[in-house]
Amino acid sequence: MNERLTKKIEQLKEQRKAVILAHNYQPGEIQDLADFTGDSLGLSIQAAETDAEVIVFCGVRFMAETAAILSPQKTVLLPEKTAGCPMADMITAEQLRGLKKQHPGAIVVCYVNSTAEVKAESDYCCTSSNAVEVVNSLPEDKRIIFVPDQHLGQFVAERTGRDMVLWPGYCTTHVLMTADDIRAAKAKYPDAVVMAHPECTEPVKELADELLSTGQMLKFAASGRAKTFIVASENGIIHALKKQNPDAEFIAASGRAICPNMKKITVDKIVASLEDMQYRITVPEEIRTRAERSLNRMVEILPSK
Ligand code: SF4
Repeated sequence: MNERLTKKIEQLKEQRKAVILAHNYQPGEIQDLADFTGDSLGLSIQAAETDAEVIVFCGVRFMAETAAILSPQKTVLLPEKTAGCPMADMITAEQLRGLKKQHPGAIVVCYVNSTAEVKAESDYCCTSSNAVEVVNSLPEDKRIIFVPDQHLGQFVAERTGRDMVLWPGYCTTHVLMTADDIRAAKAKYPDAVVMAHPECTEPVKELADELLSTGQMLKFAASGRAKTFIVASENGIIHALKKQNPDAEFIAASGRAICPNMKKITVDKIVASLEDMQYRITVPEEIRTRAERSLNRMVEILPSK
């Protein structure tokens, strides 16, 4: 990024008392200019803790909504209004209400990759880092409805052995990676450790050595247990992995694992966002308070993560 733009962003941030958050799947140059980078849990907590008045969320809509839910007194901006998450849009609040009617007494756990309305209909929220712990913390005699990601849900059901009803949603990017991609990468890099995100399909996960959220991938790579890694996740994470571990090698399991929505944010759009205070993401108060309850319950279970 050129010096003129860097200066401009710094000036605008000061003028607006703004902070820039970038998800691990953002383009490398956006990650580099952000004040904080991380996964959904880390960013949603940082968004709540910062004393900035404006949060520019470089990610997709549900992430900016999550920041707005946790920080109602702040202005939350999404630099590109069409940056959404197809998986989050695979279940509506009405569909979830229907599912709850079919399974009375079940506890609803929603992945943070969901709309504010779906969070409001849920008992607990979780991320891919803490989904297993959240489900393990729930009463053992209760059935659990898990939405919207069937693949993360499957992973949690296997790890916890719990009776779970899974909604058939999926990440349109993570399902593009195939078992053949992993086999081909392993044949080329036989000593590499395969790290796969739980949003991947089951055949991909079966071939992985480690199933990890993006935040967990960063920690695992930093532990120095290997020097070469095959990464089955959205390819933006490779920028963060390389930056933190310059001596290690990270190979994308598939060149197709690029989320088009995550790549909609550009430096120019961040400038426009700060200049024109666009696009403001708000959540109606009645939905916000109910959604906040499910997010707070997650944070209360795992205060230190
Ligand atoms: S990578 Fe998948 S889950 Fe994440 S924003 Fe893109 S479509 Fe949604």
